[in-house]
Amino acid sequence: MDVEKIRKEFPILHQTVNGRDLVYLDNAATSQKPLVVIDALTDYYKGYNANIHRGIHTLAEKATKAFEQTRHTAKQYINAASEQEIIFTRGVTEGINLVATSYGRTFVKEGDEIIVSELEHHSNIVPWQFVCEEKNATLKVIPVNDNGELDLDTYRKLLSSKTKIVSVNHASNSLGTINPIKEIIRLAHEVGAVVFIDGAQAGAHLEIDVQDLDCDFYAVSAHKMYGPTGTGFLYGKKEQLEKMPPYHGGGEMIKEVTFKKTTYNDLPYKFEAGTPNIGDVVAFKYAMDFITGLGRETMAAYEHELLLYATERVSKLKGVKLIGTAAHKVSVLSFTVDGIHPFDIGQMLDARGIAVRTGHHCTQPLMDRYEIEGTVRASFAIYNTKKEVDQLVEGLERIINFMK
Ligand code: PMP
Repeated sequence: MDVEKIRKEFPILHQTVNGRDLVYLDNAATSQKPLVVIDALTDYYKGYNANIHRGIHTLAEKATKAFEQTRHTAKQYINAASEQEIIFTRGVTEGINLVATSYGRTFVKEGDEIIVSELEHHSNIVPWQFVCEEKNATLKVIPVNDNGELDLDTYRKLLSSKTKIVSVNHASNSLGTINPIKEIIRLAHEVGAVVFIDGAQAGAHLEIDVQDLDCDFYAVSAHKMYGPTGTGFLYGKKEQLEKMPPYHGGGEMIKEVTFKKTTYNDLPYKFEAGTPNIGDVVAFKYAMDFITGLGRETMAAYEHELLLYATERVSKLKGVKLIGTAAHKVSVLSFTVDGIHPFDIGQMLDARGIAVRTGHHCTQPLMDRYEIEGTVRASFAIYNTKKEVDQLVEGLERIINFMK
């Protein structure tokens, strides 16, 4: 892995912040974008910006082809059975809201249950709460153990014929835990529930084969996969998507509109109302190609090496407590430091050009589980280096000594 060569493809990394070389360790929030992605976006706006699907002129055809090419790449990326199963969204949040609204409001009835886990991002809690409130259904929660791993024994006990939906993440954004989703899916199917997988933290780091997993829904955000913000896709099994009502009404999602009755378009367009985020979808293909070109396994191995190195060095610092020590993790390192607020650490690291995230990471119930307000989170991507981990450790050492 020639990291120096890879770094050259990310212009944003080559700048100083507060007088120091930027060390960007906030990749779980959003990853930086390589030139191929930035160029794809500007090429689209400079060369063939046009509305898609409707036009017969050359630019419209070119834009439509590029947009649909991303759908093809997305299908391959997660090994979906058909391009009809790929719906473009604004990101994972919209993917979850789409399924909660369309599937949830149609198939969840009074007295039913929806299961999420204690590891979930707010976006994988709140939309299900909406459904439960409206339908008088109950939200059940799979607890985590002290290491940040899901308690599967309790999960088995929570499952019953009342369970209609199980929704968990593939990997946790706060702790990095990789969840045993294949087993979670298998168990849910035994009681007839459908399973939604929030792949926000997996998209750039883990192999995803939706047919092998047999999940019903899987969502990713492009911006966490070296792609643009404001786009992503939802995978849905065709048989599920076919029986779901549309989410948004508008242009493109219809077959025929009269004031008496409207009929809906075929998949996937039934779920893509209005003009989509064409330029960003077009550029998203180049982000997936970037990852596939380097190889997800190779990337994951390198990131894991960085994680192990960082875990070993950071855990030795005075007063540091790691939060989340699961056996299987993506490259996320969360910790607290005795007597120093995470926010202060984040600010003092920023003064040294080091970008980390601090706070509850949109997982307040998980923070409650550990009885903490938040953590400091360093998360690694393919362009990070051991030297940057050393800079983080040196910064933390100084802050800890200064504050004591
Ligand atoms: N789930 C997880 C695990 C996440 O990390 C995030 C983003 N932090 C989301 C959902 C929401 O993703 P987005 O904001 O891209 O819609």
